[in-house]
Amino acid sequence: MKIQNIAVIGTGMLGTQIAIQAVCHRYRVTTYDIDSANFGRVLQRLKIRMQNSSRKPTIPWPQMQKGAKMVQPCASLKEAVARADLVIEAVPEKLDLKRKVFKQLDILTPTKAILASNSSSIPISRLETATRRPGRCLNIHFYGLDQGRNIVDVMGGARTSPGIIKTGRDWVQSIGCIPLTVKKELLGFCFNRVWRAIKREVLHMWAGGYVDFKDIDRGWMNWAGMSMGPFGLMDNIGLDVVYDIEMVYYKESKNRQDRPPKALKAMIDKGNLGLKTGKGFYTYPDPEFKRPDFLMGRR
Ligand code: NAD
Repeated sequence: MKIQNIAVIGTGMLGTQIAIQAVCHRYRVTTYDIDSANFGRVLQRLKIRMQNSSRKPTIPWPQMQKGAKMVQPCASLKEAVARADLVIEAVPEKLDLKRKVFKQLDILTPTKAILASNSSSIPISRLETATRRPGRCLNIHFYGLDQGRNIVDVMGGARTSPGIIKTGRDWVQSIGCIPLTVKKELLGFCFNRVWRAIKREVLHMWAGGYVDFKDIDRGWMNWAGMSMGPFGLMDNIGLDVVYDIEMVYYKESKNRQDRPPKALKAMIDKGNLGLKTGKGFYTYPDPEFKRPDFLMGRR
């Protein structure tokens, strides 16, 4: 199957990056978001994120700006997906919302179109049942392309046809990314599950009052050679997004230890969502972990 037309639904932090990555690799990209102004706002946030990062983005800022102009925003979902070969859903991490979107996509997209979810945690088998085409649904899960993270989890459910998984993998490679294929459906996919194990542990260490979150970041940055630690990274992702993802794991396991800490919820309720609101674990645009002496741990 030849993929030419991509529709991205939800142009928040991830959808915007995916749309630009695809358009810069010569795909025709249409988008739809209930808040059409978000694309422009996210673009500005991406600029700050990229300025604050020592990592090379998959697409440099000038090219990203040009790409943003080539993406075609649409006034309705129907218009955005009318000619789509592949739809990437990137709306917030809520199962009911994603199922509703998948149901609408099934009605509005050409029958041959592939429906992919960029969900960070919801396996496709929980979304495909909202459609009449489970064989053409899969997870295609991106990471921060602006941070140069061009790995992408690709995972089908029990009913996804092997050919669709291959098409998904090929498409991921065609936009300059590296597919990580999950052979058997698994909550959290491939690399995301590794990251999740770290996240759960460090949130527990912080919320339980065991360790200052900055020392956890220091340790991580020193050990892994990264420009930020897990808390800086969660700020970048958005603490509301992190919380929603952790809740998916918790609802699955019903294990109290998997429940995201109340202290995290309290930060969200106060509107401290991380980089996007200027305050999370750190304060932006000049987070402490960027300072030259941060790693020395002087107080
Ligand atoms: P976000 O909140 O930045 O963006 C979501 C966008 O969806 C918003 O612009 C919102 O207006 C729009 N939206 C809401 N309901 C909609 C609807 N019915 N139709 C169309 N648009 C709608 O969220 P995000 O961080 O971009 O996350 C989106 C998805 O990507 C989530 O499933 C998340 O788990 C996943 N994801 C996020 C990250 C990350 O680092 N933030 C990384 C990988 C995957």
